[in-house]
Amino acid sequence: MFDKEMMDALRADAEKLGHLTGEDHTPEFLVDCEACDGKGYIPRTIHVYEPGCGFSHPDVAEDTCSACGGNGWFICESEGDR
Ligand SMILES: [Zn+2]
Repeated sequence: MFDKEMMDALRADAEKLGHLTGEDHTPEFLVDCEACDGKGYIPRTIHVYEPGCGFSHPDVAEDTCSACGGNGWFICESEGDR
């Protein structure tokens, strides 16, 4: 999503601003959740048995992704030198 040069430039700006104003302007970056591929939920195939019916039929349940809480992304603060 963001290339490293852009992140470095933003971080440098933020540090400069931080020095000038004494406030923290550390930029935040959104990162796609890897656990759910940025969807916020994890599709799961289930088999549904209905009363009075001898056959099950497949269905898809959508589990809220526990890794990102259903957002599909994280806010990631850039920090330090990497
Ligand atoms: Zn997720």
